Amino acid sequence: MKMMKRTKKHEQSKKGTKRSSLIVRWVSIVSLTIMVSFIVFSVVIYTFVGQQSIGQQKETSNQMVVQLNENLSSISGELQIANVVPALTPSAKKVLQGDPVISRDDRASNAFNDNLLASLTNPDLNVVVYNLQQEDVFDNGNENEIPTFKNFKGEYKQEQTFQDNRQELITYQKVRSIRTGKLTGYIVVVNRMTYYNGLMKNLLKWMVRISIIAIVLFTLIAFIIVQDIVKPIKEMSKVAREVNDDPNSTARIADFHRNDELQELAVSFNQMLDRMQRYIDQQKEFVGDVSHELRTPVAVIEGHLNMLQRWGKDDPEILDESINASLQEAKRMQHLIQEMLDLTRAEQINVQYPNAVTKISEVLKRVVSDMSLVHQDFDISLDMDDLPQDTEVQIYQGHLEQLLVILIDNGIKYSTDRKQMNVSAGLSQDEVNIIVQDFGEGISKVEQDKIFNRFYRVDKARTREKGGNGLGLSIAQKLVNSYHGQISVDSVEGQGSQFKIVFPALTKQQADKLRKRAESESKK
Ligand code: ADP
Repeated sequence: MKMMKRTKKHEQSKKGTKRSSLIVRWVSIVSLTIMVSFIVFSVVIYTFVGQQSIGQQKETSNQMVVQLNENLSSISGELQIANVVPALTPSAKKVLQGDPVISRDDRASNAFNDNLLASLTNPDLNVVVYNLQQEDVFDNGNENEIPTFKNFKGEYKQEQTFQDNRQELITYQKVRSIRTGKLTGYIVVVNRMTYYNGLMKNLLKWMVRISIIAIVLFTLIAFIIVQDIVKPIKEMSKVAREVNDDPNSTARIADFHRNDELQELAVSFNQMLDRMQRYIDQQKEFVGDVSHELRTPVAVIEGHLNMLQRWGKDDPEILDESINASLQEAKRMQHLIQEMLDLTRAEQINVQYPNAVTKISEVLKRVVSDMSLVHQDFDISLDMDDLPQDTEVQIYQGHLEQLLVILIDNGIKYSTDRKQMNVSAGLSQDEVNIIVQDFGEGISKVEQDKIFNRFYRVDKARTREKGGNGLGLSIAQKLVNSYHGQISVDSVEGQGSQFKIVFPALTKQQADKLRKRAESESKK
């Protein structure tokens, strides 16, 4: 079961994530958001415009009702055909009777300022006046448009109905005689609201159209934008998969030609892959170098043991010689293994001793005196005239000692007749310089570039005689670089060499700060 799960996972990582799931999700969210926004926006606009227009329509209906009521309430008896028509305005009466609206003897009332006439001739308004028996005593529309009477409570009622796909506004009003205050009839006004219905229909139509266009357009734009973002991500995951399948793959992300975070990510990604590749190469090289270096001592020991097994063990002289030679090789191997360990450790210094502080002069004095003691045939001088006594550098004391030993040891190893060495140290412009000088065989310009490489020896056979593995200077360089320093060589073949190390000097405050940090760290 577990196995199946793992294979499935592996297959998925090979194929990559589900195709375009990010695009689908992103585009859906954008479309949905736009759709919801448009719907909300449309509903708000539609309702607002609707309310504004219906207000106007209500006003029109009300005006009509008020004017009719004004005219009809002057009638004291029940409303009838005979009294309703005369009660209307003169011009309205003329229109209803089929006479010309303006005549010579009718100057006082003008058809142009007769509101009731204007309202009655409005094709949107259907007016009916009912008597108490709810019989139609006056109307201005054709038969199909005449609104039916409906009983209602109170003096006035207005209702909105929806018929044949359109809204209508019906207003009911009871008519009372001004004089008697008695109910004389009813007015019913139907407002067909043609303008309102047309406006709302058009508004709805355009809103739907615009919404559809906007959703399609924005979805398309979202798709293009998301595609543009996802493309580099896809490219990166493709390269990551390729490198995952084959760590030696040289696949890298191509330049996206964009000036954004994704480009930055791609550059960092490529840098990370390059670095990983370098580590892999170094590792391979190191394993190759180590096995090559170990082959010789192992071969020498094996040769001696073979010889002893075959015939040498009976010859005390050969036996003695072979044991000595094997022991020497074993020691060399031990030394080599120690140096390889040192080299590996030299790369992790920052993690081990981040707050180490060392007083240069003390260490120099101690190392020079120790080395002079071991190599009494050498004259090793120490010059610290230009170095203030308490100059401090951010380095672990043991590492500074190791560095000096490597350099002085090399100077001694590669010296010829002149058995002299000068070690000097000085402070200039916030930098501490340590110079280790010998007057030995020197190093040619071509070789000077290579001596810091791992296992590099100028003359393999001779160096081996002297017990060198070609690791000393590599260790020295790694150490110096780890402490943000620099190491360089200046040498003339046949005259001698001068190795120079430069470290940034610490100010008093910096040194105290590091010491305090080291203290609090050790307490933890
Ligand atoms: P080794 O352990 O072989 O000395 P190093 O890395 O210390 O390895 O040095 C690399 C090579 O550089 C040496 O094999 C030697 O040929 C050359 N070299 C180093 N120091 C000196 C020196 N002071 N004078 C001359 N040659 C040197």
